[in-house]
Amino acid sequence: MSKRRLGTDAPMVVAATDTQSVTATDYASALEHGTNWLRFEPPVEAAFRHSHIMRVRTQARFWQSLQLTVGLAGIGMILAGPSLDSGRMLLLACNVVHLSVSVALVLMAFSRAYASSYLWLATIMTPFRAAAAAVAVAAIIDAGSSGTAVMTINMFGLLFFSGLLLRQALPAAMVMIVSFVAALIVFEVPAVLAAYSVTSLLLVFGLAGYVAWDMQRAARVAFLENGLTRVDATRDALTGLVNRRHLDSRLATLWQTSAEERQPLTVLLIDVDHFKAYNDGYGHQAGDEVLRRVARTMRTVARERDIVARFGGEEFVLLAYGLKEQEAETLANELRRAVEALAIPHLGAPAIGKISVSIGGACVVPLPGRSAAGVLQLADQNLYAAKRQGRNQVVFHAGEYEMMQTGVFKSPGPGRASD
Ligand code: GH3
Ligand code: MG
Ligand code: MG
Repeated sequence: MSKRRLGTDAPMVVAATDTQSVTATDYASALEHGTNWLRFEPPVEAAFRHSHIMRVRTQARFWQSLQLTVGLAGIGMILAGPSLDSGRMLLLACNVVHLSVSVALVLMAFSRAYASSYLWLATIMTPFRAAAAAVAVAAIIDAGSSGTAVMTINMFGLLFFSGLLLRQALPAAMVMIVSFVAALIVFEVPAVLAAYSVTSLLLVFGLAGYVAWDMQRAARVAFLENGLTRVDATRDALTGLVNRRHLDSRLATLWQTSAEERQPLTVLLIDVDHFKAYNDGYGHQAGDEVLRRVARTMRTVARERDIVARFGGEEFVLLAYGLKEQEAETLANELRRAVEALAIPHLGAPAIGKISVSIGGACVVPLPGRSAAGVLQLADQNLYAAKRQGRNQVVFHAGEYEMMQTGVFKSPGPGRASD
């Protein structure tokens, strides 16, 4: 069934933390595989890169701005000097490449597309600038070897300030070294000077490269450990759904958003029928497996941005933003039918002989005098009605909205069963 056909025009307000695709298992298996190769499997790698790129934004801006200044100064000095012979033309060309790459990367570092595009753009463009810089330095290197200092600073910046991950910085570093050596040979730089310069560059590359590798390895381990802790704090251990504590905070946030946008908030309270009898008849382990399967089913039926939480015991909550009441009822009935379709035998369930759920729902636009806790309470009452009316059914009841405050609201009549 389609996961997106209900309320598709509703604004996207639920933060990614509830729909995050990186699970505790992903983090744990990445930790087990180790971080020596500085690469994770796709979902974890994408999350790591995102956190990395947000962390290094300031230094990337600084480094690219510095490179831009150097490129501008270089061109200025060439144009201000004597007439352009072939050697100075080559220098000018190198500086134009350097400046062009720097302009593109500065713009990207300061742009809105930074998070999504800086890394790949810098990965593609940096080797060109590295080669241009290497050729330019080799062309003007002198007996005082100031060019050697420039090359080592470039290497250091590439590894620590460009914002590139080590795997992406390495090709640029290689291009820099190879271009430098080739240019020194082509320009017939004296052997002693060339050897001194290249040895210095290789040493800086080796030493700084090792430190960069070690730092990134440590950063990756910390990322995985933090990820695990974060997931543990928000997830239910048995089902992997959002836990009660996190649900409370999401409910408060969603209630606020719904109030601001004047959109209805849907709360579904879902309870497994005759579950005590199931445990008694089939054992607690089998009961745990049922809870996992019901949880998976609900996650599959719910839209990606809905929040599905374990409320406690064999009770679950689904929070959905922006659905109209009719759509919310349809969603609830899909949930109920999907659990029934699991066809898990349950001899202790007199009516249908298999596992089923009862669902109490409430769909409410937040207004003054109403509270999130009141909506939960309304859903709870409707769940109670669904149980009373025979289980394996959905009950929605608009209730007395103006009375929707914890401890005050009490629905006068029986709920309206649907489906
Ligand atoms: P009803 O149809 O009215 O909801 O009846 P019920 O038996 O499902 O409800 P009741 O509240 O009497 O029992 C809930 C049972 O859920 C009792 C408890 O043993 C079981 N339960 C709660 N948490 C877990 C759990 O984590 N694992 C297992 N296996 N059982 C659990
Ligand atoms: Mg219960
Ligand atoms: Mg129950």
